[in-house]
Amino acid sequence: MSLLEIRAAGIWCAAGDFYLDPWAPVDRAIITHAHSDRARPGSRAYLTVREGERLLRAQVGPDAAIQTVEYAEVLSLGAARVSLHPAGHLPGSAQVRIEHGGEVWVFSGDYQLAPDATCTPFEPVRCHTFVTEATFALPVFHWPEAAETIAAIEAWWRANQEAGRLSVLYAEAPGPAQRVLAALDRCIGPIGAHPGIEQFNRIYRGQGIELGRLADHPTLLIAPPGTARAANASTAMVSGWMRIRGTRRRRALDRGFVLSGHADWPALLRAIDETGAATVWATHRHGAALARWLEENGRRAAALETRFGEGEA
Ligand SMILES: [Zn+2]
Repeated sequence: MSLLEIRAAGIWCAAGDFYLDPWAPVDRAIITHAHSDRARPGSRAYLTVREGERLLRAQVGPDAAIQTVEYAEVLSLGAARVSLHPAGHLPGSAQVRIEHGGEVWVFSGDYQLAPDATCTPFEPVRCHTFVTEATFALPVFHWPEAAETIAAIEAWWRANQEAGRLSVLYAEAPGPAQRVLAALDRCIGPIGAHPGIEQFNRIYRGQGIELGRLADHPTLLIAPPGTARAANASTAMVSGWMRIRGTRRRRALDRGFVLSGHADWPALLRAIDETGAATVWATHRHGAALARWLEENGRRAAALETRFGEGEA
């Protein structure tokens, strides 16, 4: 029995009559997290984890009807029992567990298993069918430890500072930008944030997430990708895509640092294993590669055409 199906507006659950991260307005949307490819304005009612409500409101508008739940709180929606569980991707990011007629499905949203001080850590959820993201589902995507990447950013910043150069670090927000802000050592020098980053910092701080001091005259500036370059600055970017050399060259960056809010290849396989799922549906651009690998290794798997993963880091 299939608990989920793809319709024009997105992934729909018949038993509960709701959509998961729909890409068009619907009556009831369950939102895994507040990135723009997942949380779109115009739906009549939204359901999300309380920890993610403010970020969601920033995406879907101040007047949107948003109902919140705690992690693991069980709701009855139609004939389905639904609960949301930590995904480790953003504050309030969730995997959606759906139970109906003895079947359990989990819809992962985006997730990562590595530690991130700005959000609740990922928790595996057992299920029969797991719908997983597959943003970085190729063996080449293998992340170094986050602490190692942070140390490399700090060394680059320190060297620029000694040479009298500004360091500009491009990072997506919300997410990697705030994760880096929370982790960098303020003893090295003053850090600043571009307004496009600061608008999300305010939301994080407003719910008690510590991001560290910011300065008006920084030697390291965190900025959204694509913002204008300053003169006499060294530029770098944090993203999983920095694992591929060509990406850095195309963007004409001096440095690339590998850090992502998404699971890398080994973490994807571990997460899938820990669900115990016999069947896996893979979304995103590398979904087909992941589905093929899973089929060759004893699982039923399929790739899904979705609109998730546009422009994410
Ligand atoms: Zn995301």
